[in-house]
Amino acid sequence: MRQLNLFVPTLREVPSEAEIVSHQLMLRAGFIRQLVSGVYSYLPLGHRVLRKVTNIVREEMERAGAQEISMPAIQPAELWQETGRWEAYGPELMRLKDRHERSFVLGPTHEEVVTSIARDGINSYKKLPVNLFQIQTKYRDEVRPRFGVVRAREFVMKDAYSFDIDREGLDRSYQSMYDAYTQIFTRCGLNFRAVEADAGAIGGKGTHEFMALSEIGEDTIAYCDSCHYAANLEQAVVHYNGEPSSEVPLTMEKVHTPDMKSIEQLVSFLRINPDKLIKSLMFKLDERFVLALVRGDHELNDVKLKNMFDANTLRFATEQEVLDVIGAPVGFIGPVGVEAKITVVADHAIRDMVNAVVGAGEKDYHLINVTAGTDFQISEYGDLRNIQEGDACPQCGGEIHFARGIEVGHVFKLGTRYSEKMKATFLDEQGKEKPMIMGCYGIGISRTIAAVIEQCHDEHGIIWPKTIAPFDVHVIPVNVKNDEQRQLAEEVYASLQEAGLEVLIDDRAERAGVKFKDADLIGIPLRVIVGAKAGENKVECKVRKTGETVEISADQVVSYLK
Ligand code: ATP
Ligand code: MG
Ligand code: MG
Ligand code: MG
Repeated sequence: MRQLNLFVPTLREVPSEAEIVSHQLMLRAGFIRQLVSGVYSYLPLGHRVLRKVTNIVREEMERAGAQEISMPAIQPAELWQETGRWEAYGPELMRLKDRHERSFVLGPTHEEVVTSIARDGINSYKKLPVNLFQIQTKYRDEVRPRFGVVRAREFVMKDAYSFDIDREGLDRSYQSMYDAYTQIFTRCGLNFRAVEADAGAIGGKGTHEFMALSEIGEDTIAYCDSCHYAANLEQAVVHYNGEPSSEVPLTMEKVHTPDMKSIEQLVSFLRINPDKLIKSLMFKLDERFVLALVRGDHELNDVKLKNMFDANTLRFATEQEVLDVIGAPVGFIGPVGVEAKITVVADHAIRDMVNAVVGAGEKDYHLINVTAGTDFQISEYGDLRNIQEGDACPQCGGEIHFARGIEVGHVFKLGTRYSEKMKATFLDEQGKEKPMIMGCYGIGISRTIAAVIEQCHDEHGIIWPKTIAPFDVHVIPVNVKNDEQRQLAEEVYASLQEAGLEVLIDDRAERAGVKFKDADLIGIPLRVIVGAKAGENKVECKVRKTGETVEISADQVVSYLK
């Protein structure tokens, strides 16, 4: 590709809205442009990287036996009503109406659609297991779109869904996705950890997040160097089982919330099993956690609430964020998005807090008949937030370290949560009707690109890992007006292309300084500089990452770089 014709609108200045390095560099190097908050175009260089990551993901998914499909972004509201997520997903769900006033959503995820496909297409154990995946644009009306493509409102995700006849099958499907993810992120050149995200949600190891280690990460993870133990500290200490086990079914109802003056009042209002919940509450209170949503006295309104939480994941605001907004810490309970969770936040001076409401992530909706301890369980690891850097690892006794992480992937055992609600059943070998056992597996493809840049850059620009770089080699004739240089550069360009490499040649009539600066910014891993020694048939090969330079004969370039 010729740089003269390539659309790379680089910027000299760092755009003020870009807080983190990857966002700044993607804008400056002309990889992306924002259309509106959280919505981006991928320009030629950005699109090439997107394609590279997509290809890696596709290869590994197919290697793991998953089959690619393509599902619509537009989905009818009825499907979301079947699973209750039309209500439960909350304001992150992009909703729209057609000309007949029929409601739709722009898919933030595809459990409903894929389950409806499985329901129609699979009726016997003979057709299972199946794993379907797609690479597609997702829509989430994030509370705080930020950090460029890290938290966008429109983004590219790979989502896969497995269907099995039993738990053992699910375990196998899950493991094969876990392994594929490890391959994918390794190939992308990421420094990452797979962490226990929500231990015990649906059996022991129900979900893992793949975290790219980075200071800008929104999650804190604890990991052990001596064993594979790693966990997300900011995950709920208490979490929803997914399959309510109380006698009285857990429901979400639209109820008016009177002003609560005490936890007892709240408990009776919500018909919560009082013993257990209060015990759980008090227990948590003593351990400086509370399970409640502050209202009334603290003037916490929904707008403030929305600003504090990432409503989908219930990533909790930091202690400081909460204190800044309401002057008191809060807890929150409710199913929002795929996972229903109780999330809690630490505080020391919480004991006098009395005004509480159990919410469900949607204004005026509340969980009814919650039985703490059965519907909700304490994580098997206990209160991970009490773990300190340097503590003994709960698994092997080794040393615990802390790091910040960006969630680039997530694998999740869903069980029958969707198949039961949507009646996606099959006949087993005995002819008995059973719900399919599902898993879901997501990768933030566009977010992964930003995570790579966070890890791979210097003060001059991006340093792409070979595997996902927009080009393999950057050929730079120092002065295109010099015939010898131009000609030799063209020869090198042609021979590298012939050798199967993706090559960019900087054939612009710019000063050398400008070209080198741009080359550093764009970050192609290998560079061939054709300069003053072109007459002697000599060129300079430079490695972007190390700055290491060697002078070689032009004829050796291909064998040297391949
Ligand atoms: P987060 O905790 O960051 O909000 P999530 O847990 O809501 O992410 P999942 O529902 O697990 O996300 O979706 C699968 C993957 O999609 C995530 O692991 C992440 O890499 C990516 N992803 C989620 N939300 C966004 C977003 N707003 N912009 C870009 N990528 C995203
Ligand atoms: Mg998350
Ligand atoms: Mg989210
Ligand atoms: Mg997730």
